Amino acid sequence: MSVASSMGPRKTGAKKRKPEEALGGEKRGEDGEEREDRRRKHRGNKKYIGAHVGIQGGIWKAVGSCIEMGGSSFALFLGSQRSWKRPVLDHTAADKFREQCALQGFVPAHILPHGSYLMNCGSPKEDVFEKSQALLVDELSRCSLLGLNLYNFHPGSSLGSITTKQCVDKIAGAINHAHQQIPAVVTVLENMSGQGSTVGGKFSELKSIIDEVRDQTRVGVCLDTCHAFAAGYDLAAEGGVKAMLDEFDQQVGLHYLRAIHLNDSKGKLGCNLDRHEDIGKGHIGISAFRDIVNEPRLDNIPLILETPGRPGFEYAEQIELLYSLCEKQ
Ligand SMILES: [Zn+2]
Ligand SMILES: [Zn+2]
Repeated sequence: MSVASSMGPRKTGAKKRKPEEALGGEKRGEDGEEREDRRRKHRGNKKYIGAHVGIQGGIWKAVGSCIEMGGSSFALFLGSQRSWKRPVLDHTAADKFREQCALQGFVPAHILPHGSYLMNCGSPKEDVFEKSQALLVDELSRCSLLGLNLYNFHPGSSLGSITTKQCVDKIAGAINHAHQQIPAVVTVLENMSGQGSTVGGKFSELKSIIDEVRDQTRVGVCLDTCHAFAAGYDLAAEGGVKAMLDEFDQQVGLHYLRAIHLNDSKGKLGCNLDRHEDIGKGHIGISAFRDIVNEPRLDNIPLILETPGRPGFEYAEQIELLYSLCEKQ
C-alpha cells in the first residue's frame, strides 16, 4: 500500500490555529506558548522524530504542520501523485518554504521528500522507464529549488518480465542520469516489503544498486520498519532492531543510512505486504520502537511516521509517545 493510501487524514491532534500561527509566525498567546514548550522539550534530543505531512494549500505549509504536531523532522511529496507532468514549482512558493524552514530551524538533513508513486525507474516498458527517468530529474530539480538535499524514492519493479539484475541496471542508470542533470541532491533508496516483483526488499539488492551508482556520495538508504518486517527482518524479536542494523551495516554500510520510516505492520513477519499500522498497534510492537528511539546509530537522522494516524492517536500523539520512550540522552 502506498503512503498516500495508508496514511489517514493529515490531522495533527493539536488545537486548530490561525493560519499565520500555523506557519510559524511570531509566538502568540497560549497556543504559541504551548507549541514552543513542546519544541523546547525535545531540544537537545538527538532523535529527530516527525511525520509525513501534507502540502495542500502550498508546499510551505508542510513546515507549520510539522511544528503543530511537535515534530523535529518531516517528509512531504513534491507535487501531485496522479500526474507525470506537473506545473513548474513557482519561485515564490519555494522561497516561502525556505524561509519557513530557516525560521523554524529545520536543516535539509532532517527533511525527506518522498518520490512520486507513478515512477518505476526499473520498468521493462521503455515508455514508462523514460517517463520515470524524466520525473526523477524533475523531482530532484524541485529539491534543489526548495533548498533540500535528500530525495527518497522506491527503487522500482521488474514487473516479472526482466531479471532482478536487469532491473537494478535500469534503476542505477536512471540515478546516474539524474545525478548528471541535477547537482548535489542525494538519492535515497527505500527498502521494500518484497511485494510482487519490486526490487529492494533485500538489503543485498539495495547494495547492488548502490554499487552501480557512479557518485556514491549521492546515494543513500531510508529503512522503512514495516517494509523490513514484511520482508522478513524480525524487528519484533528481542534485539531485532540491533540485528537488523548489524546486517544492514554488513551488507550495505551504515554510512549510507540517511533516514528511517517508523511504521508498525498490519501484516505478519515475512508476509511481503506493505500495510502500515500505528506505532505499537501492529505485529512489530512497541518494544522495537523503544529500541529504535534509544539506538545511538540512529542519532541525527530523520525518523518519519507514515502510519494511518487514527483519531485520538494521530501523528502528534505518536510523536509524543515515541519521545516518551527515549531514555536520558
Ligand atoms: Zn515510501
Ligand atoms: Zn516508507
